[in-house]
Formats: sequence, structure tokens, C-alpha cells
Amino acid sequence: MQIALVGIGKIALDQHVPAITDSPDWELAATVSRQGSVGGVPAFTDFDRMLAERPDIRVVSLCLPPVPRFDYAARAIRAGRHVMLEKPPGATLSECHALADMARAQRVSLYATWHSRQADKVPGAKAWLKDKNLRRVTITWKEDVRQWHPGQDWVFEAGGLGVFDPGINALSILTEILPDPIHLCAAELHFPENRETPIAANCRFYHPQGAEVTLDLDWLEPGSPTWSIEVVAEEGHMLMENGGGKLTIDGAPDKCVPGLSGEYPRLYSQMADLVKTGTVDIDLAPMRHVADAFTLGKRVTVAPFEW
Ligand code: NAP
Repeated sequence: MQIALVGIGKIALDQHVPAITDSPDWELAATVSRQGSVGGVPAFTDFDRMLAERPDIRVVSLCLPPVPRFDYAARAIRAGRHVMLEKPPGATLSECHALADMARAQRVSLYATWHSRQADKVPGAKAWLKDKNLRRVTITWKEDVRQWHPGQDWVFEAGGLGVFDPGINALSILTEILPDPIHLCAAELHFPENRETPIAANCRFYHPQGAEVTLDLDWLEPGSPTWSIEVVAEEGHMLMENGGGKLTIDGAPDKCVPGLSGEYPRLYSQMADLVKTGTVDIDLAPMRHVADAFTLGKRVTVAPFEW
């Protein structure tokens, strides 16, 4: 199938282009970007022009930041195209619901991707947790924003989510692997005095078995990132590290090797299946927790942030 990639920035070049190029399902038929392009691929700077001139391209993958993305997604769906969304699926929950309704009305596929859910060890963690009695779940997601989002001002602008941009990856894994539903019951968000989104956050969640569930996010962590989920259960101990790339259960490394390799190749393989069946796949659980943190969280002003 032919696909157009829209928003040729960091994640498009790091992950989407190689995943599409290596996939047996897809051919990168066009790019749309005001500045970026991919060698050898027809490049458009105007999205509506691409939609009008390339009716043969039935699928578009949107790699823009969340705030501008809704408008592009709505135009693509209106033009009868199947749409794949980078995470988070929108700047607000209402936008996401609107897109889902539009896609169903137009009978096109819509896939709200959560790349971290495709990490190697997510299925193993989910399988282990299925029948455990949880006591404590500690999520620690700390990285250096200057290393992972160099100069990307949108992450600090309203709708850019701030430290919840990586934090929502943790929540996408958590909501996939935990057998029981949780909800946020307290949060503290640290906003640099010159920015519109938080640079650190601590969240606490209600758990139906009474387990202590916490999420600790920090964007000023020097050196190697920490992306881990630790679970203490009555029956044992689980440690997921490297954003889902490493799993240790009761001190022993999980050696299970999944079939298809890599988060983005798995996302594109799933998109191919969704298009064949015209399915809308939009799970908003990770985004709901972030919205709750912004609603309930106590706001603390901290030192200004400069790149
Ligand atoms: P980025 O490089 O800052 O932006 C991607 C592209 O979007 C830019 O190259 C730009 O293309 C276009 N764009 C930006 N603002 C726009 C606007 N107002 N209107 C139209 N186009 C605009 O961002 P990114 O890091 O790739 O992240 C994009 C999405 O992927 C985010 O939702 C992020 O959470 C997600 N993601 C990022 C990473 C990562 O490591 N960075 C990892 C996983 C997922 P032109 O200016 O050329 O048009």
C-alpha cells in the first residue's frame, strides 16, 4: 500500500522512514512537510495539494506535534484517507473523540499509535501480572529534555504536554500491562516560570487492590535515562527497564524474543491490518490519566528553563 508521511521531523526520520522502507506492506509514496523531505520520495509542502493530486495514496501517517495534528487528521479523514497518528493522539480528549467519530462516519481506519506498547517486553510483563496480587507499582521516567527533544519549543507550549510527552509512554505501557483499572488521585506538576508545560511531575493512582501506584517524571535527569516500571506483588517482583526493552522477574532476565523486531515496524504492521479491515483503534486510557493530572494536579512554579 502507498502511504504519505506528514511532518518530516525527528521521529519521522528516526523511526517512521526506516520502518516503512523495510516493511513488506508499505511504499513511501509522498512526504508533506514545510521544510523536510526524504531522498527519492515526491515531496509536497501543501497537504491539501497532496490529497488532491495523489488520490492513489489511501493512507497518511501524521508525525506532527499534537497541537497542529488534529487539523491535518480531520482534513485527511474528510478526504477519505486512512489515518495513523503519532502519540499522543491529540492535544485534547475531545479532539480524539471527534476524530474517532469522523473516521467511523467516513468508514476509514484511524490508528492512535502508542509506540512504547510495542516494546519487546510488554507482552511478557502483561502475562506475568495477569494473576498477581499487587502491593506496589513504581514508575520512574526520567531523561534529559535537551538530549531527547533538542530545541523543540512545542513541548513547552500549551498542548505540548511537557514532561508528560515521554510520561505518556510510561502510561501507555502501564495501562496495557496492569490487569486492573487505575485512576489518578493526586499529582504535583512543576512548571518552569517561563514555560507553559511541566518539566517534572509526581502522580499517585488509586488501585482497586490497594496497591501503592506512583509515577515520577523528570526532564532534567543528566546522563542515561531511567524508564522503568517496578512491581512488588505478594507472589514476587518484576522490573521492566529501558522503556520496555528489558524485563527481570524475581531476579531472572526474561529471555523471550518476540517475532517482528522493533516498535515502529510493529506499528506499521498493525496499521496494514487495520486498513484491510477498516478498523478504528483509538485507546485513550494513557491520555485520560494525563488529562486528569492537568485537572487535579497541584501547580508548583520552579526555576526558568532555557535550552
Ligand atoms: P518535531 O521534529 O519537532 O516535529 C515534527 C514535524 O512536524 C516538524 O519537522 C515540522 O515539519 C512539523 N510541524 C511542527 N510544527 C508544526 C505546525 N505548527 N504545523 C505544521 N507542521 C508542523 O517533533 P518530533 O520529535 O518528530 O515529534 C512529533 C510527534 O512524535 C510528537 O507527538 C511526539 O510526541 C512523537 N514522538 C516523538 C519522539 C521523539 O523521540 N522525538 C518519539 C516518539 C514519538 P515542517 O516544519 O517541515 O513542516
